[in-house]
Amino acid sequence: MSDFTGKSVMVLGGSRGIGAAIVRHFASAGADVVFSYSGSADAAAAVAAETGAAAVQADSAVRDELVAAVAAAGALDIMVINAGVAIMGDPLTMDADAVDRLIDINVRAPYFAGVEAGRRMNDNGRIIIIGSVNGDRVAWPGATAYALSKSAVQGIGRGLARDFGPRGITVNVVQPGPVDTDMNPAGGPMAPMMHAAMAIKRHAKVDEVAALVLFLASPAAAMITGTTQTIDGGVGI
Ligand code: NDP
Repeated sequence: MSDFTGKSVMVLGGSRGIGAAIVRHFASAGADVVFSYSGSADAAAAVAAETGAAAVQADSAVRDELVAAVAAAGALDIMVINAGVAIMGDPLTMDADAVDRLIDINVRAPYFAGVEAGRRMNDNGRIIIIGSVNGDRVAWPGATAYALSKSAVQGIGRGLARDFGPRGITVNVVQPGPVDTDMNPAGGPMAPMMHAAMAIKRHAKVDEVAALVLFLASPAAAMITGTTQTIDGGVGI
């Protein structure tokens, strides 16, 4: 594992799941980490106490709050935009306000947070957005709103990679398949349907996704930019 001593890292949505694993991995590798959360204050406090990272409450759905939190983090070396929500179901009956909120958190927030991080980021920095294999492929029904949001972040990633590339900043999208978290438990009702579409028929572990994020953040990945890196056990291949 690379040494991130002295590196300034921000993780949006670090209180639970994949984001908490990313916080743990960067903190273990010596980085100075700040992470955001919205509703899970107890979980955020536990991650902060365990890792020494700083927790800040900032709802990604509220643009001014989000941008202020990113600005307050100062000159970052690494920004991981992980906070996201999933709602699955029939688009004919899905609540429109819930879809709008998903778009706020999964699309608007990555755009504004990525721009704000880039405004202050040190040269040769890293921006990593957590997308989904559903940005590329939809192997089960009920994923339209979620898929649109994860396709959208591919465009954000490619655009910012162009805009910030002259400063040596790389921007990439990590696209997990099913990962065992509160959002998508390995023992949940949709798991058998998901596993049926996979070459490796299990949920990923959060540490497996965090390891890919740390690789993309490392000096070894300096020429990887504008890409999508899929880590999905072969969904729908
Ligand atoms: P979890 O629901 O387990 O955790 C979500 C994290 O994001 C929590 O820390 C939560 O904080 C934070 N978050 C959610 N909404 C907001 C908000 N409005 N403002 C700030 N923080 C917020 O999800 P996962 O760990 O599973 O997912 C993380 C990312 O990975 C998401 O972008 C998701 O779409 C993506 N992903 C997940 C997959 C999976 O199978 N699990 C598959 C593919 C992609 P709090 O509780 O404090 O609000």
